[in-house]
Amino acid sequence: MKIIVQKFGGTSVADATRMKAAAKRAVEEYSAGNKVVVVVSAQGKMTDELLEMAYEINNEPSARELDSLLSTGEQMSSALMAMAIHSLGVPAVSFTGRQIGMTTDSIHTKARIVNINGDRILGELTENKIVVVAGYQGVDENDNITTLGRGGSDTSAVALAALLKADMCDIFTDVDGIYTADPRTVPDARRLNKISYDEILELASMGAQVVHVRSIEFAKKYNVPIRVRPSFNNGTGTLICKEVREMENIVVSGATVSKNDAKITLIGVSDEPGQAANIFHELAKEKINVDMIIQNISANGLTDLTFTVDKGDLALALETAKRTKGEIKAKEIVADDKIAKLSVVGIGMRSHCGIAEKMFKTLSDEKINIQMISTSEIKISCIIEEKQAEKALNAVHKAFVLDQEQ
Ligand code: ADP
Ligand code: ASP
Ligand code: MG
Repeated sequence: MKIIVQKFGGTSVADATRMKAAAKRAVEEYSAGNKVVVVVSAQGKMTDELLEMAYEINNEPSARELDSLLSTGEQMSSALMAMAIHSLGVPAVSFTGRQIGMTTDSIHTKARIVNINGDRILGELTENKIVVVAGYQGVDENDNITTLGRGGSDTSAVALAALLKADMCDIFTDVDGIYTADPRTVPDARRLNKISYDEILELASMGAQVVHVRSIEFAKKYNVPIRVRPSFNNGTGTLICKEVREMENIVVSGATVSKNDAKITLIGVSDEPGQAANIFHELAKEKINVDMIIQNISANGLTDLTFTVDKGDLALALETAKRTKGEIKAKEIVADDKIAKLSVVGIGMRSHCGIAEKMFKTLSDEKINIQMISTSEIKISCIIEEKQAEKALNAVHKAFVLDQEQ
């Protein structure tokens, strides 16, 4: 007997027909003699609709109340999923995050899981029920409902799979698996049979929204095998697993572009010890995540400092930068939110050279200017102009021949 966690995304439970089809998949696993936990997202675009409703009422809704509202989308699908399973003659019970003791920190709208009390789920599994869990939500230590950030149902599923030591966590979605790039943007993108935790972690962090970043952090830490699979056909999808030797031969396994960043430049900062510490200390105090940072060579004791933040944090980051302007003696502060971050990822980069050169040459051939560069052992990212994002992604995908098996 195996323990299987199945997660169904919004499109996969969007209406009654799809909900019933998803329920049938759960029942198939159950009928094969497995213990099954189903994690569901809100139906279709429900989360976006709930957000719209909130902003119609108040353009600065309280984060606590937003979480109470947003969590209802998943609560609704979990009850409907349990009913769909019942109609197939199988016992099932649905739970909210709170009911299964999914405890998180108190950072509303992007809370992190701190603990899950598995007793209730284990009890119901022992009674041979399919357990259906509302994804994306938890509760903090003061009993306030929290949500895990957009796309967070993946993280609920993987965290439960880790807790239950599940044999597999199947993430059912609206694509056939993980592709070399978002198939919506790159028509030539190719489905990968396998990808390592590290590679998908980089791709997801750099904007490939196919899986939630935190879910991969969990999976890697607890060694949870994940399959990203289509819910609309019987494809086997993509296995996310530990790195195996043959993966080293693949230099670049995927590319992605994200439009979620904004750039701030502090011009004419006095070039003396402590200035960077000053500004980044203030930003950290505001819980603003800074991604790329570059500082130019100084001229006449002055330098320019550029960094990127999430677009959603831009207003606060600008306000913070302006507050410290006097202290760091910056002459001017400029912001640009019309940027995109293009990244290529592959564990083979550790042992191969010339990848950066090929990426830069490709962008140059396309007359695309590179504004910032950052690298990790297995990733190269460039900030470019937003309107060139799709063209750049397709060009890089082609240059690394990602449409063909390596
Ligand atoms: P769900 O609602 O099932 O969680 P998401 O919309 O969150 O689905 O994620 C699936 C989407 O991710 C796909 O429709 C696809 O457009 C997008 N995507 C982005 N990058 C990739 C990639 N490299 N491979 C596959 N899909 C990707
Ligand atoms: N419903 C939430 C969202 O749309 C969480 C999820 O689907 O994973 O972001
Ligand atoms: Mg998702």
